[in-house]
Amino acid sequence: MLENQGSINTNSDDKPHEECGIVGAFVPGESVARTAFFGLFALQHRGQESAGIATSVGDKIHLKARMGLVSQVFREETLTGLPGHLGIGHTRYSTMGGSTDYNAQPLLASGQRGEIAVGHNGNVINAADLRIEMAEEFGSKFIKTSDTEVIAELFAKAPGSDWFEVSAYAMRRLKGAYSLVIMTKNQLIAVRDPLGIRPLCLGTLNGGYVVASETAALDNLGADFVRELENGETLIIDENGIESKIWSGARKPHAMCVFEQIYFARPDSILNGELAYETRQRLGAEVYREHPVDADIVVGIPDSSTPHAVGLAAEAKIPYTEAIIRNRYVGRTFIQPDQRSRDQGVQTKFNPMRGVIAGKRLLVVDDSIVRSTTITRVIKMLRRAGAKEVHVRVASPPIKSTCHFGVDMATLNELIAANKTVEEITEYIGADSLAYLSVEGLLRAVRAPENSYCTGCFTGNYPIPVQLEMNKMGFEATQNV
Ligand code: SF4
Repeated sequence: MLENQGSINTNSDDKPHEECGIVGAFVPGESVARTAFFGLFALQHRGQESAGIATSVGDKIHLKARMGLVSQVFREETLTGLPGHLGIGHTRYSTMGGSTDYNAQPLLASGQRGEIAVGHNGNVINAADLRIEMAEEFGSKFIKTSDTEVIAELFAKAPGSDWFEVSAYAMRRLKGAYSLVIMTKNQLIAVRDPLGIRPLCLGTLNGGYVVASETAALDNLGADFVRELENGETLIIDENGIESKIWSGARKPHAMCVFEQIYFARPDSILNGELAYETRQRLGAEVYREHPVDADIVVGIPDSSTPHAVGLAAEAKIPYTEAIIRNRYVGRTFIQPDQRSRDQGVQTKFNPMRGVIAGKRLLVVDDSIVRSTTITRVIKMLRRAGAKEVHVRVASPPIKSTCHFGVDMATLNELIAANKTVEEITEYIGADSLAYLSVEGLLRAVRAPENSYCTGCFTGNYPIPVQLEMNKMGFEATQNV
């Protein structure tokens, strides 16, 4: 596993990386470590660097969290060592703080209300300021380097006579993206930030409740989907049932990350009331309506661009064809995050089928282009396999800015669309033609009322003011504040 590389971006497969997946369960009479495990298993795409589960019995919190995939961190005997019907789980890709064991979540914190465990998806942009303020106000000592430690400490030390008051206080102070699962010794608390940037949903399971980043995790567990949490909502689940409050003081217009719709979330998850697979089909159809081109077959870059390609093919009335086979057993593709290993990774991952491709005009669909490493290598492969023409349609707009809300994009220098025109990119990647979806087309496809999604990485307009470029290792220098 890759350790800290200073401010080097560890993203290796030319796709943006979601920060984390979270799950929480309160199911009386059941051992929820298994529930959390299978929930995390379904959310593995949201983070592959570390995994952790915390459960509570009586006064004791049991915790297991370390680097590795969910299946590497947990075995049957580990789960047996995590007793209790109340638990939370977390799988992580680091966007703030290094990729090390000590930042693996859930994180523990203690205060006047006892010990809590916290799992976080998102990115708090004022965490560095809060560390300094909380050191003065609460005497907090920070020993880790992630923004989640700040959140955990804030919930543990914040004033308030109940958890709703504590959550409202925390929402007043935290800026940015945070979907949270928090476990006290007898309660499960779920929080979605006032902008609703990261998803979070609620389900019922065997007389209890489950919360998870995505509905696909609920499906996997056999839970019944109830609803997505509102922005600014806090849920408290305990033996008395479930209670919800939306803190209106902190609530802002909904600004969910539009990249969840394009790429991050599983296609079988429901986001903003719509199945992501169908939204992705509309994205593909929309880019073809904006930029039609003649071709013999439509090819998606597997697996993430398949729904977009299927939607485009239907709109274009050109047959959708599987022309590239993805090696399903390749996980993360890097050894070291340099250009050479990225190129090698693409070859290891994809194999084009000459018999399907030779002599044909291809319309290749990609869900997004970050650096362009993957699409460039894929086009070379397709030409070697005999493609007559390669036209590329991207089912999202050019990525021109970095993300500040929990997604590891690349640095501004690495983002190809921030540094080249579409004509220059067409030549650079070696396509016969290239076109991106417009921002208007994107918003039409996700059926978004104006300003109801964050589109910052495409437009540079973020739902709240941000620093121009964020360093995910920003806390490494300020440890032990
Ligand atoms: S900047 Fe882009 S990736 Fe980040 S939250 Fe906004 S839409 Fe999502």
